[in-house]
Amino acid sequence: MQPFGRTVQVSIRHIPNALYIELYLIRRTTIDRCYRTAILDADITGPSIPKAFCIHGRAVAQGDAIVPVTTATGIQLMSVNLLLEHETDPVIWRGPVIGGVVQQFWGDTLWNDVDYMFVDMPPGTGDVALNVFQSLPVDGVIIVASPQDLVSMVVQKAVKMAQMMNIPIVGLVENMSYVECPDCGKKLYIFGEGKTEEAAKEYGLPLLAKMPIDPQLAKLTDDGAIEQFQGHWLDGVVDAILKK
Ligand SMILES: [Zn+2]
Repeated sequence: MQPFGRTVQVSIRHIPNALYIELYLIRRTTIDRCYRTAILDADITGPSIPKAFCIHGRAVAQGDAIVPVTTATGIQLMSVNLLLEHETDPVIWRGPVIGGVVQQFWGDTLWNDVDYMFVDMPPGTGDVALNVFQSLPVDGVIIVASPQDLVSMVVQKAVKMAQMMNIPIVGLVENMSYVECPDCGKKLYIFGEGKTEEAAKEYGLPLLAKMPIDPQLAKLTDDGAIEQFQGHWLDGVVDAILKK
């Protein structure tokens, strides 16, 4: 029995700011396009998603299964933080255990008719990434990285890993692309411009979006109010996901 309607999106991220991108995508698909979405927080050792949604309670069990927590806008959410006694407790499990937890989150959570599930991945190509690719029916990967990372081994490895495991890559998102001057609106490409396009060409992948550094987004995330964010930088990514 398949609990899901459609797609699992996995994002390999390498810098904390990438979290905003995922939250933004989720928001756009949930609120603006009326899909039922869910987040599986597979970043087990550094789960930060519940906080961005101002969720501090614990998930409850129903028989052998776990009931996901629902956010203010109706996103179903499962994270290891929702199972810990205190959300500030550190998670000290090792690779194989963590892998088991991700599978359990997928299989033992009572997801309610999800159209799109976003899986938040820890940085890099470690145990969790491998486990997600092996045990979840992933339809596509969005690789989010800074300009430097996009031209580095980190992203090369992520691309290769997905290709070796026959997981389609939806495309790349350049994070921390630029800062917009609040006075004149001029875009300042503090990490250089144009390198990402070259890297995308080299990987044979579309560059779906460029995401600026935006203090407002950071503040909403810190305040647990991510669902209030308005912005359109990543609409191209949403379109690419919905076309799949
Ligand atoms: Zn200016």
